[in-house]
Amino acid sequence: MDLIELTRRLIRFETINPPGNEEACARFLGHMLADGGFRVTYHALSPGRVNLMARSPAVGGGEKPTVLSGHLDTVPLGSTAWQYDPTGAHRVDGRIYGRGASDMKSGVAAMVLAALAEGADAPVTLILSAGEETGCEGVRALAAQGVLEGPVRALVIGEPTANYPLIGHKGAFWLELEARGRTAHGSQPELGENAIGKAAEAVRRLMAIDFENHAHPLLGRPTLNVGTIQGGININSVPDRAVAGLDVRTVPGLGHGALRALLEECCGDLVRFRIMADMEGFASDPRNPWIQQVFDLAAPYLDESPVPRGAAYFTDAAPLAAAYDYPPAVILGPGEPSQAHQTDEFVIIRRIEDAISIYRAILRL
Ligand SMILES: [Zn+2]
Repeated sequence: MDLIELTRRLIRFETINPPGNEEACARFLGHMLADGGFRVTYHALSPGRVNLMARSPAVGGGEKPTVLSGHLDTVPLGSTAWQYDPTGAHRVDGRIYGRGASDMKSGVAAMVLAALAEGADAPVTLILSAGEETGCEGVRALAAQGVLEGPVRALVIGEPTANYPLIGHKGAFWLELEARGRTAHGSQPELGENAIGKAAEAVRRLMAIDFENHAHPLLGRPTLNVGTIQGGININSVPDRAVAGLDVRTVPGLGHGALRALLEECCGDLVRFRIMADMEGFASDPRNPWIQQVFDLAAPYLDESPVPRGAAYFTDAAPLAAAYDYPPAVILGPGEPSQAHQTDEFVIIRRIEDAISIYRAILRL
């Protein structure tokens, strides 16, 4: 199938997550890949939802495969009305409109056709995941099922970067902190133990952490934000419980176990922590020869020579890189980064055509 038509066909599968319903889209692509001689397996996530893995005929010859990966789910439409039908895949002025046009059905289409074109000679494993937009559930399930067997040569994630190769992103470590106290009448606070006071002191100490000893050469320092706080039932009682939500964006080199110990030490016995989300980031070495080759072959398609940079958002790259023991990895896809999750999302057709050329060249490295 033609690249542009495949992109449009994929947009017409409604895979808004929640609930996702990625299975029909995955089976459609699985048939195409099986017809092309790929060994296709489906890995259930939940009813109506599967991850797809497809190995090219050249896998198994002793050479390590390159992994191309993208997600099949999209985010919801938002409350603003769309000018273009979100599943209509309308083609207007060199663009295709629809939910997932940039993030990232165009990337999936280019990856599938690049793999089919090169797969007879190049060892390539395609991983098309469900549930990425709600915390990389699909890839995390694959890792838990033990089907991500290494070693692999390298990883390419087709998220929207306008074909710019990004080589890392921060991790996310979300925690709830809880302070406990002892209630008393509001007129006699000295008889109680104020949980809000403890939480406030913990929050003050946490927000003063500057992570200056943990700066990463590519991704900079970790950041810490307190996003929520609740405590107390009524104004004339001493509150015996307060909770706050902490969002730490982390960098490789400060593992989440060590980070938790640092946060606990900072707060002493004021609060207790509970983990809400725990996803480590990744960063490829910019001096790695494969990374350098990808920079060189992407450069003609960009207005500039790529320099080592990371993404601001979290992707399947991190759990995949961890499962495969950190091979060199890039995030590179034809979608426009500014279009991800937007009303009237579109992708520029020329970028999809460039992406398939770049992916094919990567598979020939
Ligand atoms: Zn995405």
